[in-house]
Amino acid sequence: MSTDRPEILENVPLEKFTTWGVGGTARYYWRYAERLLPHAIDWASKMAVPWVILGKGSNVLIEDSGFDGLVIHMVGNRKISIDHAVGTVACSATVPMPALAMATAKLGFTGLEWMAAIPGTVGGGIVMNAGVGSVFNGDISSHLISGMLFQPGVGFVEIPSEKCNFGYRYSRLQAENSICISGIFRITKEENSLMPLSRLTSLLKARKAKQPLAQRTAGSTFKSPAGHPIGKLLEKSGVRGLKIGGARVSDTHCNWIETSNGCKSSDIVKIICEMRRLTFVRYGIRIDPEVKRIPRSQWPWEAECH
Ligand SMILES: Cc1cc2nc3c(=O)[nH]c(=O)nc-3n(C[C@H](O)[C@H](O)[C@H](O)COP(=O)(O)OP(=O)(O)OC[C@H]3O[C@@H](n4cnc5c(N)ncnc54)[C@H](O)[C@@H]3O)c2cc1C
Repeated sequence: MSTDRPEILENVPLEKFTTWGVGGTARYYWRYAERLLPHAIDWASKMAVPWVILGKGSNVLIEDSGFDGLVIHMVGNRKISIDHAVGTVACSATVPMPALAMATAKLGFTGLEWMAAIPGTVGGGIVMNAGVGSVFNGDISSHLISGMLFQPGVGFVEIPSEKCNFGYRYSRLQAENSICISGIFRITKEENSLMPLSRLTSLLKARKAKQPLAQRTAGSTFKSPAGHPIGKLLEKSGVRGLKIGGARVSDTHCNWIETSNGCKSSDIVKIICEMRRLTFVRYGIRIDPEVKRIPRSQWPWEAECH
């Protein structure tokens, strides 16, 4: 049913909306629709409650106590629009990156095949500058032309990629109160139209061999410090198989934390702190989590990890 007001629910459990499967309850919850976004933000402001964006929940750690405000859940709409003549694809922030990769590769366009390996939404990908490393020249900053943002108090604003301040798993959106609504990406028609899909399939196969994809994880937990591949650093620090409560460092990849039934967010916090401590003891390097916490007041980690 279409209404002109956002339908805001109360006391919604969030664990099922995250890939780790942990986290408490949202006091208020709204499933995003673009045209109602300004109303939802006004509503939060009138109620004097904070708001936060949740995408596919594949890079977040939600506290056991949940979020005492409005969670705006950006999933659902899968609008993808390809301009064959210009070589661009526009898509809403709610589209899962694998769906965008598949839609373009199937039509023989190259550029975004690597997105098939990342389960988040396009919006979450832009915020995180998600990527797979140098093989595919694959991070968002190398392919994004522009992003549409909603800035409370300002409205909808289109910004070119150069103004996103992209860095390694960083964009300026992480430091702002903006919401990413959509993006436009560069794509190129390949002469052999079967190649993009074949490349995409090989990437997925290679990942399956190296990553614990059947487990509940949030992918890589920590960023690599300059000059040090994080997987090796953690492995040599002896974290493989480390277990705290329902959280366990994967045997397959030492930078991935798997959760089992009954795992609490606090178990993950503890294991992250222990991984940081062990790496510091072994190498004198403080490693930084890539994963974002909800609520934001829990950033940075130094409050709990010493
Ligand atoms: C199996 C697995 C494999 C992975 N592999 C990779 C990989 O190879 N490379 C990689 O970079 N990442 C990887 N990830 C991590 C994750 O998928 C990415 O970081 C992804 O970009 C997160 O998108 P999301 O929609 O899940 O965002 P969420 O986890 O929901 O949110 C992440 C952060 O972005 C904010 N946010 C989300 N959407 C928006 C929006 N529209 N506007 C404003 N803020 C927003 C949230 O508030 C939060 O701070 C992997 C995760 C898993 C589970």
